[in-house]
Amino acid sequence: FLANEVRAGSKSIRTMLNQLKQGVRGESSSGANDIKVLCFDATSWVVDNFKPAVEEFNKEHMGSDNPLHITMDYTTERLSDQSATFAAGYDAVCLFVNDTANASTIQTLSKLGVKMIANRCAGFDRVDTKAALAYGITLARVPAYSPYAVAEMAISLLMGINRKITRASNRVKMANFSLDAGLMGVDIHGKTVGVMGTGKIGQILCNIIHGFGANIICYDVFESDEVKAMGGKYVSKDEIFAQSDILFLMMPLLPQTKHTINDAALEKLKPGVLLINSSRGGLVDTNSVLKGIQSGIIGGYGADVYENEGDYFFQDWSARNISDPTLVSLLGNNNVLLTAHQAFFTQEAVDAIVNVTIDNLKQFKEGKVMYEHPNTFLPPRK
Ligand code: NAD
Repeated sequence: FLANEVRAGSKSIRTMLNQLKQGVRGESSSGANDIKVLCFDATSWVVDNFKPAVEEFNKEHMGSDNPLHITMDYTTERLSDQSATFAAGYDAVCLFVNDTANASTIQTLSKLGVKMIANRCAGFDRVDTKAALAYGITLARVPAYSPYAVAEMAISLLMGINRKITRASNRVKMANFSLDAGLMGVDIHGKTVGVMGTGKIGQILCNIIHGFGANIICYDVFESDEVKAMGGKYVSKDEIFAQSDILFLMMPLLPQTKHTINDAALEKLKPGVLLINSSRGGLVDTNSVLKGIQSGIIGGYGADVYENEGDYFFQDWSARNISDPTLVSLLGNNNVLLTAHQAFFTQEAVDAIVNVTIDNLKQFKEGKVMYEHPNTFLPPRK
C-alpha cells in the first residue's frame, strides 16, 4: 500500500512524511488555542473552498478575546484502516460520504489522540457511531447543507431519464435531428408520484412535484403535516410500490431501508415505473434494478448514488478498467442515468458545508458539549 502511494507521489504520503519530520506522530501538537484537523478525501473542491474559509476564520479569531486557530491539512486518501495512521498528531478528522470509520479505524484514531470526527456531510452510515461514543470521540455533522440542491437534482434525474435528454443531446450533436426511436417521454402532470422518505429533502421535492400538478403519495415512518397540506397522502409500502408511476427514494440508508428495491419489490412495482435515487446506493439492490429494467418493470433508473461507489466516485476512471461488473452494466444501460454523487454540489451547499464544519470545530474546541449542539447526531449525554 505504502509503496504504491509513494510511486503515485500521493499527497497523503507527503503529509505523513511532514508529520514525521516535525516529530508529531502519535501525539497532538496543538496548543491551547489550536485545533489540528486532517481532512480526508480532500478533492480539489474541498481544498479550494475550505482553505480560504479557514484562513478567514483564523484572521478573524487571531486578535479576539478568545483566540482560536484552525490548522487544516488535506489528503486525497480516504479514511480506512490503513490510512487512519495519517491522523497521528491531529485533534480531529474531517470526513465525507465515502470515508469509512468502522470500529477498528476508530480505535486507531483514538490511540493516535484524535478526539473528534467532523463529518462534512449529513449521513453517518459509514461511521460506527457506537464505537466513537465508546472511545469518547465527539461526532459532528452538517445535517442540512442545501436540501434544495438535492431535491432539484432528483428532479433533474427524473426529467433527464423521462425526456431522454442524454440520448437526444448526443444525437443532435451528431446532426441527427430525427425524433425516431426512443425519445418519447410522458407528462409528469397528472401522474402518481411516490416519495419514500418525507424529511427535509423529501418535503422540498413534494413541493416541486406539487407544482407539476401530479398526485403525491408518500411512505415514511413519520408523517409530515406540511406534505399533507400539499395534498400528499401517506400510504403503505405495498401501496406506494403498486400505485407510483414515478418513485423517489428519499430516506436514509439504515438496516431497515437497505435494498428497499430488491427482487421481491419488483413483483409489486407498477410496470414501467421511473425510479429515482439521490439518497444512498444501498437503498436498492442494483442487480434487481437492472433485472427490472430488462423485464420492463422499471422504465428507467435515475441515480446519483451507487452501492459500491466508494471505489470509484470522486475519481477519474476514464483511462482505467472498471472491474465492477454491476457498475459496468449500469454505465452501459440506455435506461439508466447515473451521476457520481453530485446532488449536494451547488455553491450554496458547499458554502454551508464549509461554514457549519468550521463552526462545529470551533464549538468543539471551545469545550461546548457537542452532544447538545444542533449539528451533532447523538442525543444529549446524560
Ligand atoms: P431527513 O433525516 O430530513 O429525512 C429522512 C426521512 O426518511 C425522515 O422523514 C425519516 O422519518 C424517513 N425515514 C427514516 N427511516 C425510514 C424508513 N425505514 N422508511 C421510510 N422512511 C424513513 O434527511 P434528508 O436531509 O431529507 O436526507 C435524506 C437522505 O438524502 C440522507 O439520508 C442522505 O442519504 C441523502 N443525501 C444525499 C445527498 C447527495 O448528494 N446525493 C446529499 C444529502 C443527503
